[in-house]
Amino acid sequence: MKAGKDKVVSLHYTLSVDGEKVESSHDHGEPLWVLLGHGQLIPGLEKALEGREAGESLQARIAPADGYGERQEGLTQRVPKKYFQQAAKLKPGMTAVLALKQGGHRAVVVQKVGMTTVDVDLNHPMAGKTLNFDVTVNEVREASEEELQHGHAHPPGDAAH
Ligand SMILES: [Zn+2]
Repeated sequence: MKAGKDKVVSLHYTLSVDGEKVESSHDHGEPLWVLLGHGQLIPGLEKALEGREAGESLQARIAPADGYGERQEGLTQRVPKKYFQQAAKLKPGMTAVLALKQGGHRAVVVQKVGMTTVDVDLNHPMAGKTLNFDVTVNEVREASEEELQHGHAHPPGDAAH
């Protein structure tokens, strides 16, 4: 079966930026499960997986426009510490997770830590970067009705919701 919209794919990946490894699914042992065509992956990786089959390996070099976007200037914001998980551990240069008022979370880069507030850069940490992915496709299958309704893949044994 070929990967594409409304198919569920399990894959292992290693992401490198500027010649440095950033993250790898091999670090967790478990492959990543994704439902294609529902915004679970950055556009460049969706394109790279199109038409691939189980057992295939591929390398994808993804420009910022197909990744996390270009960096935008003027996205620095001063945020009360209460919006951060583990605010006490924040240091400049770190990536932190910010809880959004409208719900959900966002990864931001810490610029300055004050007494009660933190200055952060709201650009995604990978904005403006060319992403190099090494991907191995483990499995391609049809999505279930439930997965299509939820808009994400359900890994085996994950019945948490
Ligand atoms: Zn679900």
